[in-house]
Amino acid sequence: MRGKYVTETLRVEESGIARAAETLRAGGLVAVPTETVYGLAARADSEAAVADIYAAKGRPSFNPLIVHVASLDAAREFADFSPQAEALAQAYWPGPLTLVLPRKSEAGLAAAVTAGLDTIALRMPAHPVMRRVLEETRLPLAAPSANRSGYISPTSAAHVLASLDGRIQAVLDGGECERGLESTIAAVRGDGTVEILRPGPVELDAGTGAGGGIEAPGQLASHYAPGKPVRLMATQVAPDDFVIGFGDIAGDCSLSESGDLAEAAARLYACLHLGARSPKPRIAVAPIPAEGIGIAINDRLQRAATPPDQSSSGS
Ligand code: AMP
Ligand code: MG
Repeated sequence: MRGKYVTETLRVEESGIARAAETLRAGGLVAVPTETVYGLAARADSEAAVADIYAAKGRPSFNPLIVHVASLDAAREFADFSPQAEALAQAYWPGPLTLVLPRKSEAGLAAAVTAGLDTIALRMPAHPVMRRVLEETRLPLAAPSANRSGYISPTSAAHVLASLDGRIQAVLDGGECERGLESTIAAVRGDGTVEILRPGPVELDAGTGAGGGIEAPGQLASHYAPGKPVRLMATQVAPDDFVIGFGDIAGDCSLSESGDLAEAAARLYACLHLGARSPKPRIAVAPIPAEGIGIAINDRLQRAATPPDQSSSGS
């Protein structure tokens, strides 16, 4: 379906936001900046619009989508909020925290959004552009990362176009994403325990550990793949390595020369995109401390370094 659309690049002024909202209301796909990465938005109450997200991304149908809402009140229409969930939403919304909660069955959302689960993933984003789009459409918006499934997540409009040009109606160009890593996903279980399904910008004390294995559908071993071998914890590098540096290791692209982990998170996907496009055949990544947001950075790097196999591409 390449070339199905002439993808419009919209500016984040009133007319661009109005155009984005109108396109979304009509059931179209629009990539929208958030504080984490660019999301590929579509109205979450339309089976056809949601099916188009899966088609445009080439996303496997078992990988459910996060539904973005304008307010906590809107979120309550779609899920049952326990006191623990309520407290997390109060503390971190709007912001880069997704809550997986028991789904209300008569909420009017497309079945494909939740991939047949009886839970739903909800987030109230903080980015002013996404918030304006949500307010303007007055709709819940399903929005996975705006990239082809399994490929590197987008933190700029150019990254979105690199993999989805011609496959979506529009991208709202809001510059670079501030956080640069996907939201933390926390499931709040019936007994009140909190399980971290994906580490991210919000650091939570989980009631149970975030161990290995597939805890969430779509959290698969190979993801964010740049299409060439990636070596982690590299302290020795070869001339034909594209080196992603950190701190004292400079590299072809430094995540943060001062060794700042928040800056490294914000720059991670931009460096991976550069490494993917470089003529060099391999990518080597300097060691990144596994503390704070460094845990989420290492999680994404592990997946980028795992070669895709026949079935396990998430998005
Ligand atoms: P993305 O929007 O591309 O960052 O991916 C969203 C991720 O949210 C998916 O990979 C799923 O793992 C996760 N997710 C969405 N809905 C649920 C759910 N109901 N239960 C568990 N995980 C979910
Ligand atoms: Mg994704």
